[in-house]
Amino acid sequence: MTAQLIDGNVLSKQLRADVAARAAALLARGITPGLAVVLVGENAASQVYVRNKVKACQDNGLHSVLEQYPATLTEAELLARVDALNRDPAIHGILVQLPLPAHIDAQKVIEAISPEKDVDGFHVASAGALMVGQPGFWPCTPYGCMKMLESIGYDLKGKHAVVIGRSNIVGKPMALMLLQKNATVTICHSGTKDLKAMTLQADVIVAAVGKRNVLTADMVKPGAVVIDVGMNRNDEGKLCGDVDFDGVNAVAGYITPVPGGVGPMTITMLLVNTLEAAERLFPI
Ligand code: NAP
Repeated sequence: MTAQLIDGNVLSKQLRADVAARAAALLARGITPGLAVVLVGENAASQVYVRNKVKACQDNGLHSVLEQYPATLTEAELLARVDALNRDPAIHGILVQLPLPAHIDAQKVIEAISPEKDVDGFHVASAGALMVGQPGFWPCTPYGCMKMLESIGYDLKGKHAVVIGRSNIVGKPMALMLLQKNATVTICHSGTKDLKAMTLQADVIVAAVGKRNVLTADMVKPGAVVIDVGMNRNDEGKLCGDVDFDGVNAVAGYITPVPGGVGPMTITMLLVNTLEAAERLFPI
């Protein structure tokens, strides 16, 4: 038996078609949803990410602006740009690509983004809204994972979900989203004493660590749903996740691949959030 694949490319295509249709409906009312992506410095990976985000906007009827600045940009200059984008009526979503150069306080910059335009969902107001179950923007990566679970009709009520990783952008919001859907949630991290004992109890495992083979077949209950957020390189330099895919594939009920799993979903949910930011401003 092998697990059923949850294909992030296929699901993304469906969700992006819905985004394009809703963007066209807004356009018919004279509103073009707009995303501003701000990149500071020459980080090669970040340059690829921002290009992909801008292209995804263009392909799906959203307006996008890419602002690129040298690594020498000061914190004050960046804050001034964010302030201008907050006030720009053509921009409904603002994304400042992380990491930022060391001399810039990333949290300060995130907090400067208007919560109404915080389509990355990293602002403390967005995190607070998620925590208390109020409307806000959900961080794109865990939001995409929830859409993947939804796509297989998985009912989380009463299920045990184990999240490996507790970052503010993936692990913690992931745990809160699973909790909101009535799962019993365990969060594991580098201080967890017996990770295997935790994952073996899980009906759903989300691995968000950034280390290869954190999850192997002997750590997975037969039939469990396994979502792999990790992005690593194997010995051949190819992209791989945190999960030993071949081994776990033989035990799990569902599994997401890397590449072609959570990665495309993250950009898709950015489009969804940007569209929603515009829709909230101009409700029908
Ligand atoms: P992060 O901030 O480095 O957090 C990693 C987490 O893993 C930390 O909470 C850490 O615990 C925990 N951890 C480290 N070693 C562990 C171990 N041996 N056992 C259990 N937990 C362990 O990373 P992140 O930003 O959340 O990202 C995680 C991974 O997802 C990375 O590979 C990243 O590239 C990938 N990612 C992918 C996407 C996508 O779109 N596909 C988006 C975002 C991130 P402590 O807190 O105790 O240090």
